[in-house]
Amino acid sequence: MLDLTDIEKPVPVDNAGPGDFDANGKRYLVGLDRDELANVFRELGEPEKSLRMRANQLWHWLYHRGTQDFEDMTTIAKGLRARLAEVATLDRGAIESHQQSEDGTAKWLVRNADGALIESVYIPEEDRGTLCVSSQVGCTLNCSFCHTGTQAWVRNLQPREIVAQIMIARDTLGEWPSPQEGRLISNVVMMGMGEPLYNLDHVAKALKIVMDGDGVSISKRRITLSTAGVVPMMDRCGEELDVNLAVSLHAVNDETRDELVPINRKYPIAELLAACRRYPGSSNSRRITFEYAMLKGVNDSAADARELVRILKGIPAKINLIPFNPWPGVAYDCSDWPTIRKFSDIVFNAGVSAPIRMPRGRDIMAACGQLKSASVKQRASQRT
Ligand code: SAH
Repeated sequence: MLDLTDIEKPVPVDNAGPGDFDANGKRYLVGLDRDELANVFRELGEPEKSLRMRANQLWHWLYHRGTQDFEDMTTIAKGLRARLAEVATLDRGAIESHQQSEDGTAKWLVRNADGALIESVYIPEEDRGTLCVSSQVGCTLNCSFCHTGTQAWVRNLQPREIVAQIMIARDTLGEWPSPQEGRLISNVVMMGMGEPLYNLDHVAKALKIVMDGDGVSISKRRITLSTAGVVPMMDRCGEELDVNLAVSLHAVNDETRDELVPINRKYPIAELLAACRRYPGSSNSRRITFEYAMLKGVNDSAADARELVRILKGIPAKINLIPFNPWPGVAYDCSDWPTIRKFSDIVFNAGVSAPIRMPRGRDIMAACGQLKSASVKQRASQRT
């Protein structure tokens, strides 16, 4: 019999998080779509015929300009602005800490209304700047090599809390109004804490706001959603969002993957790869990324590399080889450098791109699978 508790932590019925209003009874505006913004004006008694225009004005100040003060919203009449400020807030959550790594990587820890801590990471590279965004507080999946998986599950993030991660990063980097060219944050990856396909309603609502060309305006070609392999949700993700897809593969056979990514026992590799083949729009110019953490003696042999190429045949793929980032108490080691090089060469020589992802931000515990560690540690040291 399959023991489901090994695969996932149980999800409490009430995992929605804080409500739509702050402690003063003011409605959060970040995370609202145009219809909901129109509704805010409806509740203020504005005439029906002007609601759409008002919603568009507010949308512009909120998501294009990143305004943090109602007073700045000069296209909205002064009296109406004041009434809006009485019932609504532009709050994005409180920045608990903002750390900068030696290599330019930055990490934000944001405290939300219920005290939940959310982490996001900014990774500047030569040709792009990527913000790594979280979708949940904690994670229900128990991937054996991921630190987030060992920690308590807390809850799904709300659309507001997902959109706010990008807005906070833009606030800090001074990147408002949304620029068209030369952006610091050019790309978004849903690769922070959590499994985005287990919170797809909220992730979808948030990403639709982020992709809107009149607002934050980060296009679907520059957004990548990473999943451990929630096969039934992958089709919906493709149909509804059509963002780039990344899959945490990490193994080439079910036996090993069952151990590393236990959700594999529900949705084995063959089903996962079939879902990848169905994923819309995958082509050579828009390949699916397969993440592969290099674990010494577990998944890093030359035979594994050849098998990887074989099972991915026919899928427009690129493989991100991630040197495993160790954490205290973990049972795995990172593969040796020559082994990683050899693995990469075998895959590359078979015609599949397999860059080795140099770990970034390790000194601030911002690397893959390390999120939340620092904040947990910090709080533990504050207690002593
Ligand atoms: N739940 C989603 C989103 C998380 S993305 C998913 O699994 O895809 C985070 C990526 O980092 C995943 O590919 C994950 O498997 C990988 N990862 C986790 N811990 C790691 C570690 N210690 N070293 C290297 N990669 C790790």
